[in-house]
Amino acid sequence: MGSYHSFLLICCLIKGGDTMYNLLPKPVMIKVMDEEAINFDKICFLNLDGTSIKKSVVKNKFESLEGLDIYLQDIDVSSISSKVDSKALEVMVQQDPSFVKDNLLEYQKNDAYFLRVYMDNERNKGLIDIKYVHEKGLLNAFSTLKQLIRPTSNGFTIPRVEIYDFPNVEIRSISTTFAWYAGYSRVGFDSQLWNYEDWKAFIDVCSDFKINQINMCMYGYWPFKFDEFPETTLTNYPLKVWSKENKTWIEISYTHPNIVNEFLPDLINYAHEHFIRIFAYIGLNSYNGGYSNVYKERRAVPPSEKYYNNFDFLCLSDERNVDYLKKSIRRIVEIGFDGIIFEESEENYWYCSCEKCKKRYLEKTSRPADAKHLANYELLRKLHSVIKETNPSCEVGLRAWREEPVEKEVVYMENAKNSIPEDVFLYWAPGPYNPESEFEKWVKIFGPERICARDQEANAYSASMGRLFYMFRSNILRPDKEHLYWSLENDIEQYLGSVRNGCKGINGYVFEWYAYFLHLYAVSQYGWNANVPKEEFPYYALQSIFGEELAKDILYIYENIKIIHETQLPICKLFFPFLRYKVRREDLDLLRKIKGENRKINVMIDSLLDRIRKDKFLRQYELHFEKLKNMASRNEIILDMCFVSIEYESAESEEQKIILLKKLYELNEKDFDLIKEMYFDVNPHEKSGIRVCGFPYHEIKRSINNILEPDKYDPNTIYLGTETIGWLWL
Ligand SMILES: [Zn+2]
Repeated sequence: MGSYHSFLLICCLIKGGDTMYNLLPKPVMIKVMDEEAINFDKICFLNLDGTSIKKSVVKNKFESLEGLDIYLQDIDVSSISSKVDSKALEVMVQQDPSFVKDNLLEYQKNDAYFLRVYMDNERNKGLIDIKYVHEKGLLNAFSTLKQLIRPTSNGFTIPRVEIYDFPNVEIRSISTTFAWYAGYSRVGFDSQLWNYEDWKAFIDVCSDFKINQINMCMYGYWPFKFDEFPETTLTNYPLKVWSKENKTWIEISYTHPNIVNEFLPDLINYAHEHFIRIFAYIGLNSYNGGYSNVYKERRAVPPSEKYYNNFDFLCLSDERNVDYLKKSIRRIVEIGFDGIIFEESEENYWYCSCEKCKKRYLEKTSRPADAKHLANYELLRKLHSVIKETNPSCEVGLRAWREEPVEKEVVYMENAKNSIPEDVFLYWAPGPYNPESEFEKWVKIFGPERICARDQEANAYSASMGRLFYMFRSNILRPDKEHLYWSLENDIEQYLGSVRNGCKGINGYVFEWYAYFLHLYAVSQYGWNANVPKEEFPYYALQSIFGEELAKDILYIYENIKIIHETQLPICKLFFPFLRYKVRREDLDLLRKIKGENRKINVMIDSLLDRIRKDKFLRQYELHFEKLKNMASRNEIILDMCFVSIEYESAESEEQKIILLKKLYELNEKDFDLIKEMYFDVNPHEKSGIRVCGFPYHEIKRSINNILEPDKYDPNTIYLGTETIGWLWL
């Protein structure tokens, strides 16, 4: 990709005023032209009128630099010094492709920019020149400029640098949740509860870090108005919320924020103003609205009662179901999404066993997963037609063939490729449990130009942990005992593979945002410039935002905080597929050590929160660390639960066992008190017929009560989130 790499400056540390800092994503080329930084307190954009970028977009981007005066009028350059004083930084932008030195691909040119910060010595004024090919590049330059500006005690400072920059993949996307198994196992947490303003703020973050696509997961009851099937939307859904004031549960009717006040079309426009595309990420035939809960008789038919996961998908031999899916998809396209990514159901152990489906699919294939694929190829073609009829430029993506065996035959994958429309992009390809050659096989078969994502789902895994912290392998109690594939480091490994193979895009999950911003930053860095060793990335990214001192503390906490999921207590008999190891007597020393470490981490988080609240530029991260505090506080209690649960297992007398069970019961309540304090949706859901809750509290309470009061035995298991159910047969 050209000569600039050969003299790329490895050291990106710039001395600006008295702060050392990095840029995120790290640019391809940055040169410090003069050690002396420029101080200023106003910024004037002199000629934005020649571009179609809205002034409100530019103003909004720099507005978070509290105290900085922003001028966006077209001011005559000759009169500028009389209008604004010498402490004004002037920005001149110019569409001029001559700065492109390398043999760049079309998308790289469009995203590329050149930025120079220098002094006009005659006028004693700081100047910035920006050159770009497409306005996407100009906005990228503004994002970089925003990071270059740092506050000082009496204004702002910017280093004198030259930056030449372009990305290394075209699509730098993240998958977030707009609804995630809504109405099946939850109403929502995190971004699922955001309103328009919250989403706009998130788009701003994505723009600042050069993310250019957001895939909004909409699984479960639809989070939008749908006049033809209003019963399948997340409207007036009954929910019990905790009233701390009077320590009681209050039943309310919950409606998704986008139904209360429809904002998706405006949000999509807002994203487009930032050159960000918005995709819907939905099931191909799974959890499409609340349809399978409302019309239970139209679900797929399991071959035996052993399979309780019958709410996952619909019988495709029932034309009413296909009609519903087509109408749902048309409605989604009409909202204005730039694309739709379909995901195949995770259920691979059986397929619909009604007489019609047996003949159409099961008898034509050798295993249920292939019957599913066969049925889904038909469905995909139908829905693809609906999409293209409604909006020919709406893209189609697919996440499929994810089942075992994880290594597949070439002829099998070629057949798969030939079974889907040629313009469908892949948003899934082999991941961390495969040798890289398996991914390369897919690249060869489908072509790198069709691969936009791999199994880069570390944060989907984090989001399945009942709001306990999981990011790195080092967060696990006994990593060697787990089937552990997903982690931030494994995501990065895969991003590097995608870049190496020249793939169209990378995609990272941000299913849980608070406490997990690093997942977004990893997409930002590796989608733009993969030239950062993965071991260095977490500190590099943290330092770029928080500075050296805070970055060290945050990284220490992130790497050393341990997750012990409540289901890892031996008292909990339910199998949790994402953390399978149950704590035991041999772990006692380790658990005591973790307890000491967790106390230290709690103190560190308190101090961190204090410093972040006092810093007007970092205050925006407060919610991330408040949540981290809740996580570490829960760990304190869960560790105590471990000690009691281990003691219970070896207690000899019935009396002793009862004392310990009561102690465990109380600790479980304390854990739940912290959960209730922080989260809105904390109770089991059972509209599907199966009780499900992401918090193990209820299942542990049921287990304890069943021993303490056998005459009131409750036989109904409370499963740990719909996302675990497809895994329970492994
Ligand atoms: Zn059927």
